[in-house]
Amino acid sequence: MKVEFYKHNVSEEDIKNVVEVLRKPFLSTGKEVEEFEKRFSEYLNCRYAVGVTSGTAALHLSLLALDIGTGDEVITTPMTFMATSNAIIYVGATPIFLDVEPKTGNINPDLIEAKITPETKAILPVHLYGEMCNMGRIREIADKHNLVVIEDAAHAIEAKQENSRLGHLSNTACFSFYPTKSITCGEGGLIVTNDTEVASKLKKMRLHGMSKSAWQRYEKQYQHWDMELLGFKYNMSNIQAALLLNQLEHIEEYKQRRKEICQRYEEAFKDDPNIRLLEASSGSARLMFTILVPSDKRDPILSELQEEGIGVAVNYRAIHLLSYYKGRYDYHRGMFPVAEDIGDSTITLPLYPKLTDEEVEYVIKKVKKAVEGKSGLLPQ
Ligand SMILES: *Cc1c(COP(=O)(O)O)cnc(C)c1O
Repeated sequence: MKVEFYKHNVSEEDIKNVVEVLRKPFLSTGKEVEEFEKRFSEYLNCRYAVGVTSGTAALHLSLLALDIGTGDEVITTPMTFMATSNAIIYVGATPIFLDVEPKTGNINPDLIEAKITPETKAILPVHLYGEMCNMGRIREIADKHNLVVIEDAAHAIEAKQENSRLGHLSNTACFSFYPTKSITCGEGGLIVTNDTEVASKLKKMRLHGMSKSAWQRYEKQYQHWDMELLGFKYNMSNIQAALLLNQLEHIEEYKQRRKEICQRYEEAFKDDPNIRLLEASSGSARLMFTILVPSDKRDPILSELQEEGIGVAVNYRAIHLLSYYKGRYDYHRGMFPVAEDIGDSTITLPLYPKLTDEEVEYVIKKVKKAVEGKSGLLPQ
């Protein structure tokens, strides 16, 4: 049997929507993008949504729109995809890592205040695997120290915490529509915010800082435009939006199926002495399912699962130990032991709506066999 690590969920209806747009004259940022932004902001109950070309672009523009730049410090987590901290470096600021909670792998709010300096301008939490960070606590710390909060919400579109959703307790929340995320257009991203001024800045900044978009110029008679600030070329196209619109309608169903699969995995692994699991609350968006195995056996287990035809991944090896970060910032092993432990022990298993029950059972059987076999083979 072969079980893919990931299968996207693009349907025939989604494809039909894209073909319809391709038959129309206007392919860049226009009506479909506006419609997707409207529905996305309604889904999260936020005032504004701004479609861009990637999650990385969403993070980059958020930092710029909130005036974070050279010499500033941004507090974030080393347990994430490096897009999070790379975006901080793009604007000339310094990523300040701190350790994560052992239970969830999310940034540990208890450690934030000790890292705040006069240079600190922002906190950038990541809702790892779909589990929301404690946003109430993070907002409280941010308000006390006059900091902004930018959420890396790439894993967590559907997440809930008490009555709050993404974008409610932050200045901006950033999303990605990369293929392994819960809805996809190949490459794409989006920012939500409740701040009118920030939204207007983001809309200009995604298109070179122009005062009028091509759509605004196309819809009516030609009008001169101005360039008010230095922006980038990060605007979402109508083709991308057309692919996403119908997926958004089904987002809760897709999450429900992932949740079911996670519950089956948890039931199967919870009593295995060689497997540790992170916690997920009922509000988790359940984007990824990971297990933690003894770190000296992680790589042999990864190889065995792949030999059995199972697609696996590592999300993530702690960022501060990647060569570029170690070299540039003098980070070293031992600084963030919880993140390092997760990074050394974690394996991500297949999780997506198209995964069948039969495939899930096959993965469970092979994971148990690999974990048990490797523990027997190695001394101690
Ligand atoms: C996918 C991802 C991103 C980046 O999104 P892109 O659309 O690939 O640029 C950022 N942060 C996290 C945590 C991600 O998983």
